[in-house]
Amino acid sequence: MSKQIGKCLCGSIEVECDELPKGAAACYCEDCQKASGGGPSFNLVIPDEKIRIVKGTPCVYKLQAESGNFLERLFCSTCGTAICSKLSSRTVWKAGLFSHVKDIEVAINVWASRSNKLFRVDTDKQTFEKGR
Ligand SMILES: [Zn+2]
Ligand SMILES: [Zn+2]
Repeated sequence: MSKQIGKCLCGSIEVECDELPKGAAACYCEDCQKASGGGPSFNLVIPDEKIRIVKGTPCVYKLQAESGNFLERLFCSTCGTAICSKLSSRTVWKAGLFSHVKDIEVAINVWASRSNKLFRVDTDKQTFEKGR
């Protein structure tokens, strides 16, 4: 896949990715449900050298997740769009930035134990009850 520009809702933040993965990790944890407005978040694991913020400066919210890990959630201060989450081991980028790219699909589900009746977990994909 060629170079792609991802944007938040208002366009204040732009990211440039050299090579997008086709598989996203859907996270159903309660934090992601809050941040997304009530569904899972769809996360792309992208090596740091392959993606960069080229416009704007996101706000940073630091917290401890249910897993016990500390992380930073970056979001647009104008429109609230989630940009990425920085974990100690990796940064995961929100697939919604690239929702114009039609061939990204869910590859795995994490925190499926936190799902509810608002959405259905596609258990045909590899599914973890908690994180991994
Ligand atoms: Zn924005
Ligand atoms: Zn989550």
